[in-house]
Amino acid sequence: MNYPNTQLLINGKWRDSGDGQSIPIVNPSTGLEIGRVSCATKSDLDEALSAAQIGFDIWRKIPAIERSRLMELASKNLRERLEDIAMLITLEQGKPLAEARGEVMMAIEVIDWFAGEARRVYGRVIPARNLCIDQRALKFPVGPVAAFTPWNFPVNQIARKLAAALSCGCSIIIKAPEETPASPAALIQAFIDAGIPNGVVGLVYGNPAEISEYLIAHPIIRKITFTGSTPVGKQLASLAGKYMKRCTMELGGHAPVIVADDADIKLAVKSAGAAKFRNAGQVCISPTRFLVHDSRKDEFIKETLSYIENLRVGNGLDDQVNMGPLANGRRLNAMAELTSDALKKGANIITGGKKIGDIGNFFQPTLLDNVSLDAKLFNEEPFGPILGIKTFKHIDEAINEANRLDFGLAGYAFTSSIKNSHKLSQELEVGMLWINQQATAWPEMPFGGIKDSGYGSEGGYEAMEAYLNTKSVSIFAG
Ligand code: NAD
Repeated sequence: MNYPNTQLLINGKWRDSGDGQSIPIVNPSTGLEIGRVSCATKSDLDEALSAAQIGFDIWRKIPAIERSRLMELASKNLRERLEDIAMLITLEQGKPLAEARGEVMMAIEVIDWFAGEARRVYGRVIPARNLCIDQRALKFPVGPVAAFTPWNFPVNQIARKLAAALSCGCSIIIKAPEETPASPAALIQAFIDAGIPNGVVGLVYGNPAEISEYLIAHPIIRKITFTGSTPVGKQLASLAGKYMKRCTMELGGHAPVIVADDADIKLAVKSAGAAKFRNAGQVCISPTRFLVHDSRKDEFIKETLSYIENLRVGNGLDDQVNMGPLANGRRLNAMAELTSDALKKGANIITGGKKIGDIGNFFQPTLLDNVSLDAKLFNEEPFGPILGIKTFKHIDEAINEANRLDFGLAGYAFTSSIKNSHKLSQELEVGMLWINQQATAWPEMPFGGIKDSGYGSEGGYEAMEAYLNTKSVSIFAG
């Protein structure tokens, strides 16, 4: 298939930026330029903002059941275009086609779920202290939203924000990732073809810092939602605070995986290992600190090694490949730096640790044992295919290590004891915990972090709340 150039979507029309500027898109498997994306000017943003205000005034007045139907139609369009959109993801982001298909299927799940919830945005009738008074809590859409999404799941990161906003009656301007622009545009086209009115959804690209600063400060925007790194999230959250905008922050993580003395090691490696190398480790909930009971380390390493030996790294378009390249050169440099720092601080390399070949951003799946707590690998979000192990003797030691960092996004544990499971559920400082299973991010479950991993949720009813204002209404009818 031909990879298209990507334009801006403003007021329902695809067009180049006002000054004709665009930047190149590079396929991370080949290093070759495959297309270009338009970069919005301030005046393009002004047009997108006016359109979002008009779009909001139209969309919020459409009955919930109609909004829900339009979203279902968009999801049907996506289902029909799944293969083409998956191909765009693989070309621009690198992940294997099977994973790209999975990403689009999850986006469909998300849109369908929020389309259903659109019909159930209930308020409350609250018993009054005087029988002549009628007390209600009413729900209203918060207003036009500015959403900022990253390159690791170009479609699904948008789908969660877009579906929640639309289901609540909000319009939305999405600043999608410049590195992976074509699959987001294809996602939005599915909504346009479903008949979403002009201005309800806008899509822009350009200089992320300039666009976020302009949109967050603008009086038309009433809510901000961002997925990305913690440092950028903190900057955007402080800007949102300055302008008193509602805010959801889905930021970085550093997920502990606790493998207890009574764990099923095969299950632990199959579940957490698969999660570790999915999308070449570029996932916010990726397992990153493997805390393994002393007595089970050898078995865990043996099983992990055999898992890694079965990984085929290469161009995601090849059916045999199950781990693609890193999405950009920055991640490749970061992997080299994390590995050499860990080795300097006493880690042992069991396998991997090197860039593969001279074409594309390929890095070996890497297994490091005896990682020191002061190694960067155990302190900064790795966002890559490096699995680091540290042993523990007592479960409390593992819990202390898990909670040591300021991150609090995902956690995993493997144990056959109810007592351990209960203790871990109570004491781990994370927003999401998976015990004896792989990560699942179904739309009906809350999805989000605590501590420096952000606030707010992108799943479950909590995700809807983020796009709704509550009005307390009390009517005296005596
Ligand atoms: P980065 O931190 O500069 O960018 C992360 C994302 O934020 C990108 O999509 C970027 O376009 C956007 N961004 C950056 N500055 C922005 C601003 N001022 N306003 C609005 N958006 C802005 O760096 P990067 O090299 O792209 O990624 C590095 C780190 O980011 C990774 O190591 C990882 O920790 C984190 N990250 C997290 C997620 C996630 O799913 N939570 C996704 C991508 C990257």
